[in-house]
Amino acid sequence: MDENQRIPGEKIASIEEYLPGENTFEDDDSIRATTIGEIKLDSSERLASVNTQTQITVPKIGDIIIGVVEANLPSMIAIMIKYVNGKKVVADLECICVTRHIRKKNIALAKDVVKVEIISHINGTIHASIDAPELGVLFTKCRKCFGTVVKMRDAVKCKDCGWIDDRKLSLDFGKSEFLTQN
Ligand SMILES: [Zn+2]
Repeated sequence: MDENQRIPGEKIASIEEYLPGENTFEDDDSIRATTIGEIKLDSSERLASVNTQTQITVPKIGDIIIGVVEANLPSMIAIMIKYVNGKKVVADLECICVTRHIRKKNIALAKDVVKVEIISHINGTIHASIDAPELGVLFTKCRKCFGTVVKMRDAVKCKDCGWIDDRKLSLDFGKSEFLTQN
């Protein structure tokens, strides 16, 4: 959460300086938030309010997502969103990525860390694409022994058992050391 975000009950201003605006309440000499959102101090109207429009970062079209694969289905993968444009997401948001047009046996496995781009919102479902070269798997493990894998052209090879497997790899595969700590 960034420093302008407030959670319910948290003080956002004092009553001597501001009037309680939207999504706030008065509590003695404090103005407190009634909802999660971004604090907005309007000094011309002396109004302190909380803007709930920005309370949850719902990714927009074109946003770059880093997430963890929840389910690996024959024609799509479901991804739990962890980062939107590099910013950590607190809410549980999922996106779907259609993969049936990609000629690979394993696009990504469950628990793989992937980078995808948001392409549409349809009926409340967030759709993403994994097609561009920079998109794809950032971190994965061996399907046979869960060992560490290294990149071999557009496939991965297990350092422990030698199993070679395909993935839709991102150009950034192996560069995101912090992700391997999860
Ligand atoms: Zn292995």
